[in-house]
Amino acid sequence: MAAPAVDISVDPETGTWTTDGLPMLYVPRHFLMGLLRTVRDAIGAAAADAQFYAAGHEAAERWCAAQAERLGLSGIAVFHFYMQRLSERGWGMFDGSGIDPATGTGRVLLRHSAFVADAGITGTRVCAFCTGWAPGALAWVGRSQARNWRLRGEEVHCASEGHGICEILVTQQTDADGCDETAATRLPAGA
Ligand SMILES: [Zn+2]
Repeated sequence: MAAPAVDISVDPETGTWTTDGLPMLYVPRHFLMGLLRTVRDAIGAAAADAQFYAAGHEAAERWCAAQAERLGLSGIAVFHFYMQRLSERGWGMFDGSGIDPATGTGRVLLRHSAFVADAGITGTRVCAFCTGWAPGALAWVGRSQARNWRLRGEEVHCASEGHGICEILVTQQTDADGCDETAATRLPAGA
C-alpha cells in the first residue's frame, strides 16, 4: 500500500478536509454504495440513474472550471487531470487516452471500478453512477474552446458482467437521446 497521491489539508478549527482547493468528504465506500442502492430501490433504476448522471455531469463541469482557474490549465489537459484525480481518489483507474481531443468522443476505460469492487460479479452493468463524469468534463473542455460538443456517456461493458474491464463510450448526443441531462433535476452531488 502507498500513501495518497493527493494532498489533503484539514482545517484545525472546522475539521473540513480540502483537496485541490475543494472541500471534500471522506466516507466509507459501503456507506455511499448503500445510499445509491437505497435511492435506486426507492425511485427505480432508470430515474435514479438519470439523476445520478445529471449530478455527476454538473459536478465534473464545476470541478474542471475550478481546476482550470486554480492551475492555469486549459483544453483537454483539464479532462486528463480529472481522470487522474478520479483514479487517485479511489474510484478506480480511469484511462481517458481513447478520447479524441478534436471531437470529445471516444472510449474511457475503467479498471478496478469502485462500483464493481462493491457489487462483485453480477452479470449486469453497475457503474451508471459515474457515466456522466467524462462527458461532463469534456463538455467543459468543448465550451472552453467555443466548440458545440453535445456529448453522451454510456457504459457499454462492465467488469461486473465478467468483461474484466469497464468501458464508457462517449458519443455525440442526438436529439433522439431520451436522457438529456437538462431533463433531470440537478442535485448537489457527484464527483
Ligand atoms: Zn462497470
